[in-house]
Amino acid sequence: MKQSRLFTKTRREAPADEVSRNAQLLIRAGFVHKEMAGVYAYLPLGLRVVEKIKEITRAEMNVIGGQEIIMTALQKKETWERTNRWDDEMVDVWFKSELKAGGEVGFGWSHEEPIGEMMQNYIASYKDLPVYVYQFQTKLRNELRAKSGIMRGREFVMKDMYSFSLGEEDHTAFYNATIDAYMRVYDRLGIGKDTFVTFASGGAFTQFSHEFQTITDAGEDQIYINREKNIAINEEVLNDETLLKLNVTREELQLVKTAEVGNIFNFGRQKAADIGLTFMNEAGENIPVWMGSYGIGITRVMGVIVEKFSDEKGMVWPESVAPFLIHLVELSNGDTSIKDFADGLYSTLTAKGIEVLYDDRVARAGEKFNDSDLIGLPYRVIVSKKTQEEGKFEVIERRTGEVQYMSEEELYNKFVRSEA
Ligand code: ATP
Ligand code: MG
Repeated sequence: MKQSRLFTKTRREAPADEVSRNAQLLIRAGFVHKEMAGVYAYLPLGLRVVEKIKEITRAEMNVIGGQEIIMTALQKKETWERTNRWDDEMVDVWFKSELKAGGEVGFGWSHEEPIGEMMQNYIASYKDLPVYVYQFQTKLRNELRAKSGIMRGREFVMKDMYSFSLGEEDHTAFYNATIDAYMRVYDRLGIGKDTFVTFASGGAFTQFSHEFQTITDAGEDQIYINREKNIAINEEVLNDETLLKLNVTREELQLVKTAEVGNIFNFGRQKAADIGLTFMNEAGENIPVWMGSYGIGITRVMGVIVEKFSDEKGMVWPESVAPFLIHLVELSNGDTSIKDFADGLYSTLTAKGIEVLYDDRVARAGEKFNDSDLIGLPYRVIVSKKTQEEGKFEVIERRTGEVQYMSEEELYNKFVRSEA
């Protein structure tokens, strides 16, 4: 992508009312646009990051047998009334509206009830099970506070998956496979080391649910962790019983600030019983399906990555989700031979399948470098009079600041990613 043609420029200031660091940086770098508090549009650079996070998530959900679908944003009142969750007293984030033709609709903040109801059309016998489906969808939640930038949106992208199993054994196996798949997702996103499978309050069926909590000062949660034992407990379930069960003492735990990047629930057969989702087992009895629900906050994760890896100059993207791998910066300063050379390098890198953002703008070096630091691509490759004379390019790693000088050949060897 040529930066001269890129839709969105960097800007010096974020909106005055934007208090969160992730949104300030993302807005200044032109990744997102703030429509209103808690509501952000994703522009080309930001969308590339979202898509990469989705692609990693998608791949891991497919590994465990998930199939992608997309549910509707508009939801029926009756569906939620059945489980007593239409009531604003029970769910405090509803957006609701009225149909002109008459009747109320809700805007999807979750899809547990609607998908359970939908499955009544597809699950009748044990032969129809198991079913594992997931979607990426914009959820709408009327959050009271929206001060954490894209980490808490009133509109945000979630990956939500639902499992429907015929017996406890299969159900538990899938639940555990999801925990592993989630950790692989966070590892690949670069936040695995600081992300903990956390015991949190459960629901009607289980004592605990599992949250995936990532350490960051920008988080709104607090959990207790023990790194050696790899134990993490949400403060809401920190009590003697939990400690005993997990074989850890209070003294061994450390309090950390975190953001919840995922949450999974084991409903047992309770949810299906409430919804009326049953199947005929081999003995010919009609019994409720075993259900689980599994969420990852796609756009929240993006915010967490910005918060964790940014420095005073700007963002620092991990390679796996960076909008481009290389920021190619030409400092031709009117010298057409350097410009031509940089153009050629851009074409070759791109032809080799390397993702390059090419700063081909007529601008001062300082301005280009500041923008490049702010945007935070993993590597910067500089083409200037000096690098041209020496036949080597200056390659700077954004994260470490490490500088290397490389020939064209060495560049390709370093950056061409073999097709897996
Ligand atoms: P929180 O406690 O932070 O309000 P939640 O427990 O209500 O979140 P879930 O219903 O478990 O959220 O949703 C699944 C995932 O979606 C969460 O783990 C989180 O990563 C993400 N998420 C939830 N609410 C938001 C939001 N308002 N903005 C962005 N991401 C969100
Ligand atoms: Mg949650």
